[in-house]
Amino acid sequence: MTDTQTPNFDKAEAPSGRLDVSAESAPASDNGAELSRRAFLRTAGTAALATAAIAGVAAHASAAPSPDPNEAKARLDHSNSNFGPTNEPIAQENPESEVTEPTDAGDVPVFWYSMDIAKKRISEGGWARQVNVKDLEISTTLAGVNMRLEAGAYRELHWHAAGEWSIMLNGNARLTAMDNQGKSYVKDITKNDLWFFPAGVPHSIQGLGPDGCEFLLVFDDGSFSEFETTLITDWLAHTPREVVSKNWAGAPESALEPLPTHELYIFPGTLPTQSAEQEAQASAGANGVSPVAFDFPMHTMKPTHESASGSVRIVDTKLFPVSTTVTAAYVIVKPGGMRELHWHQNADEWQYFIQGQARQTLFDNGNKARTMNFRANDVGYIPKTLPHYIENIGTEDLIFLEMFKTDTYMDVSLNNWIRHTPERVILDHLKISRETLAAVPTEELVVVPGPKVS
Ligand code: MN
Ligand code: MN
Repeated sequence: MTDTQTPNFDKAEAPSGRLDVSAESAPASDNGAELSRRAFLRTAGTAALATAAIAGVAAHASAAPSPDPNEAKARLDHSNSNFGPTNEPIAQENPESEVTEPTDAGDVPVFWYSMDIAKKRISEGGWARQVNVKDLEISTTLAGVNMRLEAGAYRELHWHAAGEWSIMLNGNARLTAMDNQGKSYVKDITKNDLWFFPAGVPHSIQGLGPDGCEFLLVFDDGSFSEFETTLITDWLAHTPREVVSKNWAGAPESALEPLPTHELYIFPGTLPTQSAEQEAQASAGANGVSPVAFDFPMHTMKPTHESASGSVRIVDTKLFPVSTTVTAAYVIVKPGGMRELHWHQNADEWQYFIQGQARQTLFDNGNKARTMNFRANDVGYIPKTLPHYIENIGTEDLIFLEMFKTDTYMDVSLNNWIRHTPERVILDHLKISRETLAAVPTEELVVVPGPKVS
């Protein structure tokens, strides 16, 4: 079991050796260390174990200031024993809520949610689920929707008051839209491509072969609801038929009979027989085809920064001009690596985890911090200017999105900052040696490597 799989408890208790033994004897699963320390706490009356744990805490305590001088000891002795009941799967996913990091402190709001506990709205043709501010109270600036469409199935023609950013997670789709000059847009989208529809721009999404698609939508409003958008069928079903008739050159009532009387939302349809270009040309007529690029082919993009530890692709209005309110960073962190300590000057960060396992600590001003774990399909949220890191604690590549409600990507790297501030000033503050400071990277690496393995 590598160090990155047993990130917290075992490192802190290195002097005792006892807890390392229990971790190693646990099943070789990703949760082995967490299971063993939870098991330990359930049976912490065992004097030898408790003594070993307390010895470990004493060796560690000076590095972990706490508002309660007894907290560091209490979190690992019988004070933190637990008879249950326990929701084991949830507890295993976030072990640091039961045995908090010694550096965690104070009352920090939850900044985790999962699409896997969001209610699915299932229709013939696919499904949708969302995480907005009602689910994750801290997420005020952005909301996310996860959607699946079978081949041929539509997300109905619609629009909304929020801007819609999206990434294709799997499969293929055909988009249609009309720009603000009335020009037609039709485009096919594949895995890792992006699109953006500004507020009020009408559009549709249709799954293509062989098996439709699944994608993530991110809206520039935390209170956005996917289930309250403006749908063409919903609107016309609530418009007097004689008004619809008048609007359509006096179409007789019998001709309007087939109009749906309720919204379709997601529903099966006919697969296209023409290319996107052909359909765009055919539907454009005298208005012409839209010159606006509502999509961005990120699958062809080289990383903005890349190292042996990972990469980041930053897509803001410099590359994707139509996306004026949403900026994205697509990050890959190799096992053991870490998205370095940093913060963002201009926007909150909404996160979506695509693959792997991560942990991060949200530091809040005034002696407050909370560490939580994240897995694929989870959502995270970090308020503007609050510092954080994202560490890969799994065995596969960690892939996640950093999303911001802004037109410009901005961040500050702790390393970049302290290596470009007078050395005297940094040494006076941090009390570290000149040699330690000199080993800190002199610039922002974005993703830093894990400890060297000999
Ligand atoms: Mn939409
Ligand atoms: Mn960040």
